[in-house]
This record gives sequence, structure tokens and C-alpha cells, in this order.
Amino acid sequence: MSRRRRVYEGKAKVLYEGPEPGTLIQHFKDDTTDSDSQKHATIEGKGVLNNRISEFIFSKLNDIGVPTHFIRAINMREQLIREVEIIPCEVVVRNVAAGSLSKRLGIEEGTQLPRSIIEFYYKNDELYDPMVSEEHITAFGWATPQEIDDMMALALRVNDFLAGLFLGIGIRLVDFKVEFGRLYEGDMVRVVLADEISPDNCRLWDIRTNDKLDKDRFRNDMGGLIEAYQEVARRLGILFENEPKRRGPTLVK
Ligand code: UDP
Repeated sequence: MSRRRRVYEGKAKVLYEGPEPGTLIQHFKDDTTDSDSQKHATIEGKGVLNNRISEFIFSKLNDIGVPTHFIRAINMREQLIREVEIIPCEVVVRNVAAGSLSKRLGIEEGTQLPRSIIEFYYKNDELYDPMVSEEHITAFGWATPQEIDDMMALALRVNDFLAGLFLGIGIRLVDFKVEFGRLYEGDMVRVVLADEISPDNCRLWDIRTNDKLDKDRFRNDMGGLIEAYQEVARRLGILFENEPKRRGPTLVK
């Protein structure tokens, strides 16, 4: 096998040059870190689960007309994506108070928010991804006002889709983080969803028990991370072990 050129290595993923110009291979590692990158661990099987979950969600988003970087699955850990220029803003959508929102504003975890709230964070590890406003984003040229509008509109569509998808399988979508990129097509450029959507960047609580089925299990040293990610994949109908293949999510009554 020829050696592939590594284009970028992040905390949980590696990007390799793709088979055609304008494409990349996104490889999911087993590594995990907490928000401040203070804590690090390798959790066997996490990359495979996140690749599977993210590929399922991104292909469904493509199907409903949300533009994404995702092209197709390659193998257990890898997917083919379009090369985009990542916009250096993390976009968080919240439906229920948790994490930093609860801490900052003193709102009890689990409180339903009056409406979905969008926040922006500047992607910069050295500064621990500080929260920023649209004013900062436009003043410093990280994105244009039009790109901010596009990111917000797409983030809300992703939220509606994901909240419904997870509700149908007995999971409450508390919040999640997404990233966007600029896709250059000839002399056109448009904003598309990039990165990944998995329990690493969503808060997912079981509707009945409030059990955490996401990365908070690692952040809070709760253990059982792989089992929780497997449970999400199983409910989505995409974890094939010894069970017969299913075509889609299983309704939890
Ligand atoms: N999040 C993420 N990457 C980050 C920070 C947050 O994926 O670097 C996700 C996190 O999993 C949660 C949402 O964004 O679903 C909101 O996180 P929050 O601001 O509450 O931060 P945290 O409590 O993780 O510090």
C-alpha cells in the first residue's frame, strides 16, 4: 500500500490526502481529550463508533439538503470528504442548560431553555476556545456577516434534524458543537457543515433515566464511555454485532 500524505492531525482525527484533488480522507482515532486538553486517554473502539455515527448523521443531512463535506464511507475508521477551508469558529447549539452555560449563568443543569440558543467560540487551543460574539467574528475577519447567517441557519436545521432523530430513540439532545468550512467550487464559495457529529461533541441524555450517553462520561471520570457510545449506535440501528442488520433507528416507546 502506498504511504498517504498526512495533511493535518488533530486530537481525535487525522486528515490524509484523498484519491482526487479537492478530497481528503478523515480518519477517526481512539484518542480523547477534555475541553482544555488537560486530560488525555486512548479508548479502544471509540474511533470506529464515532466514524460510524458521524457518517450515518452526515449522510442523512446530505439527504435532506443540508450541505456537508461528507462524500462516502471508506472503512471502519475512515470517510471520504471534500476539502474545505475550516472557519475558525465553533458553533454550539443548546436546547437544555448544561456544562459551561449552567456554570456561567447559574442555570440548573437539565433546565429546558426558552428557545434554542446559538453560541460562537473562537477555535484556538492556546486560548482554550474562548466564547466570542458576532462582532468579534466580523471585526477580526474570521467570517463575513453572510457566512454567520449561513452557519446559524444550517446549525438550526441540524438541531431540528438531530433533536427529532434522537427523540425517536429515547435520547434528549441537550446541546452540540459543529464546525463549518468554505467549499470552493470554481469561482463560487459556499458554507458547508464539516468536522464530525458524534457523542464526542453532543450531550445526549437518556429520556427516561437522564443517563449520559456522551463524552461527559470521560470529562467527569464516570467510566462506561464505550458502552454509552455503543448504546447510541445500537439505538440508531447502526451497530451490527451478532444481531441481524437493521435499516434505521429503532423507536423506543
Ligand atoms: N463541545 C465540543 N468541543 C469543545 C467544547 C464543547 O464538542 O471544545 C461540545 C460539548 O460536547 C457540548 C457542547 O459543545 O455538547 C457545549 O459544551 P460547553 O460549552 O458546555 O462546554 P464544556 O462543558 O464541554 O466545557
